Amino acid sequence: MYNVKELRKRRKKKRLYKKIKIIITMIILILIANKAIKSYLNKEITASKNKRVIEEVIDSGKTKVILDPGHGGYDTGATYGDIYEKDIVLSISNMVGEILEENDIEVIYTRSYDISLGDDEKEDLKNRVEIANSINAEYFISFHINDYDDYTYGYEEVYGFEVWTDYNDNKSLELGEAIEENLISLDYTECRPMLDGSESLYIIRESNIPSVLIEFGFMSSYNDRLYLSNKENQKLLAKSIASAILENINISAK
Ligand SMILES: [Zn+2]
Repeated sequence: MYNVKELRKRRKKKRLYKKIKIIITMIILILIANKAIKSYLNKEITASKNKRVIEEVIDSGKTKVILDPGHGGYDTGATYGDIYEKDIVLSISNMVGEILEENDIEVIYTRSYDISLGDDEKEDLKNRVEIANSINAEYFISFHINDYDDYTYGYEEVYGFEVWTDYNDNKSLELGEAIEENLISLDYTECRPMLDGSESLYIIRESNIPSVLIEFGFMSSYNDRLYLSNKENQKLLAKSIASAILENINISAK
């Protein structure tokens, strides 16, 4: 049998446990709600910004080009230490856009700052293609950096840039070739064979306008990484991409 003191002690303990349980449950609920609200707000902002971007370009009468720096937000893309694909491609994309705008081209960015376009990769890519297909633009151009994580051959054996185009579409092919030529002349790494993304690459397959995707090099390769993470080199890359675009727009305008 318990004595009264013992019983009180036990009840007190029970009450304390109950209180702790309630507090922990509340903390968990607050954390979940906070995350949900943040994710909702982020989505709203992204959606409304993109909507605004799309509405603003309608009837501008200018030639339009869509620039699509890959990844963003939670999705870093290829990484090496604190070097992220999402940052490098964003920087290059914004530089390309600036040059195009100076040449009276209307530039639409799928993102011009550090955000993702969806909660997962599927949604993210779908939204990018949706932008491509909702605007009557001349080109849709995606920027990426490759990665290689197989030790079998050693990281340094795999390097170089890669251009993906749509082999069923002449305008994509011509722009891809012009970009490839300009990147070769920068002589910063190897030119890997051009690739057809008309079936294997979601962004190229699903977009209804001429599309090109550029992998500027390999994050896993020391030389590629060193070159790509330098701002001055990013300017050179941006210039060569922009001049290939302008050249092709002028050709098709004639
Ligand atoms: Zn990528």
